[in-house]
Amino acid sequence: MGTPLLPGSTLGVLGGGQLGRMFAQAAQAMGYFTAVLDADAHSPAGLISHHHIRTAYDDAAGLARLAEISDAITTEFENVPAQALRQLAQRRPVAPAASAVAIAQDRAQEKAHFGRCGVPCAPYAVIETAEQLAAVDAALLPGILKTARLGYDGKGQARVKTPAELAAAWDAMGRVPCVLEQMLPLAHECSVIVARGADGQVVHLPAQRNLHRDGILAVTEVYPGNLPDGQVRQAVAAAISIANGLQYVGVLCVEFFVLQDGRLVVNEIAPRPHNSGHYSQNACDVSQFELQVRTLAGLPLTQPRQHSPAVMLNLLGDLWFTQGDAPQAPPWAAVLALPGTHLHLYGKTDPKRGRKMGHLNITAATPEAARTTALRAAELLG
Ligand code: ADP
Ligand code: MG
Repeated sequence: MGTPLLPGSTLGVLGGGQLGRMFAQAAQAMGYFTAVLDADAHSPAGLISHHHIRTAYDDAAGLARLAEISDAITTEFENVPAQALRQLAQRRPVAPAASAVAIAQDRAQEKAHFGRCGVPCAPYAVIETAEQLAAVDAALLPGILKTARLGYDGKGQARVKTPAELAAAWDAMGRVPCVLEQMLPLAHECSVIVARGADGQVVHLPAQRNLHRDGILAVTEVYPGNLPDGQVRQAVAAAISIANGLQYVGVLCVEFFVLQDGRLVVNEIAPRPHNSGHYSQNACDVSQFELQVRTLAGLPLTQPRQHSPAVMLNLLGDLWFTQGDAPQAPPWAAVLALPGTHLHLYGKTDPKRGRKMGHLNITAATPEAARTTALRAAELLG
C-alpha cells in the first residue's frame, strides 16, 4: 500500500445524497477537505462540502474538475456510470474500482459473482430476450421480476405468479434486461458491512437485522442475539469472500435473506456504506463512514467494536404528513427527550412520502431498553 493521504488532503465523492453527506462529515471531522460532484444545487452532501461541482455524473469537465481538486475519489451512489469512475481513475486513486461498481450495478453480473464465490442466492433466470422469457422454468414462479439495472428501494420490481403475469410485467418494464427470482419464504433479512483496504485487510461491522416496509428499509436492530450465532458467522464469512473476490477497496454492504428453514442466501450488494449501517455512527467506536474515509485515504483499518445495543429507525417523508396534507415537522423535542436518541437529518427541505429524510439511532445499555425507546419514539413520530 502506498503512503496514506493524511488530514489536510481533499477527498472527493461522486454523488451528493445523504450517504455522500455523512461521508463528507466523517472526513471533515478527521481534518480532510471534501469535494462533491452532483448537479443538484441543494444536494445533501453539496450543501456541507468545501467544494461542490454542480454537473451531471457524465460531464467530462465536471469530472476533470473533481479529479483536479481531489487527492482520491469515492462514490456514494451505485448508479453513477462506471465510465465516470474509469475517467477519474486515470487521474486519481478511485475506490471502489469501476469494475466492482459495474458488477454491483447489474443484478445478473452480481449473481454470477455470488456463484463464483460459492455463496448461494435465490434461484433465478436472466431474461434479456423473448426466447429466454419463453424458456423460464415454471419452478421459479411465483417470483419477483427485477430490472437488472437501476432498481432501488423496491423500485423496478414486480411480483408475478404465472407465465402470463411474467410476460405482462416484462412488457410493462419495456423489455429491458431483467432477472426473475424465485419468491423465497423469508424469516427475516440481515446485512453485513465490510471494509477492505488496498492491502487486502478486511474488517466488518456486526451483522444487522433489518425490517423492510414496502421494499424500503424501516428498522435495523443490532445487538448480541439479534440473529443466531451460526447465521452471523456464515453471513460475515460470505460478505468477506464476496469482497475478496472483487478485490474490493472501500465499504461494501452485503444483504442477505434468512429463510424460514434457517438457510442464509445472499440478496444483493451495495458498493458503498448502507442505510442498514447507520447505527454504527452512534453505537460503534468506528462508523461505516469513518471506515470509508480510512479505506479511501489508505489509513489503517481497525476492527470496529460495538459499544451499545442499537436500533435505527428510518425517517421517511411520510412522518411530515401525519397531520394532513401540509408538511409539518415531527415532534423532535419530544423524541430527543428519550434517553439515547440521536437524530440525523439530511438537510432535505421538501419532505415527500417515501423519501428518506433522516434516521434516528437509539442506543441503550441493554437490547430491551433500546427496543422500548424505539417503540416509544415510533409512537411519538406517529
Ligand atoms: P432493492 O434494490 O430495491 O433493495 P431488493 O432486491 O433488495 O431490491 O428487494 C427489496 C425487498 O423485496 C427485499 O429487501 C425483500 O424484502 C423483498 N424481496 C426481494 N427479493 C425477494 C425474494 N426473492 N423473495 C422474497 N422477498 C424478496
Ligand atoms: Mg435491497
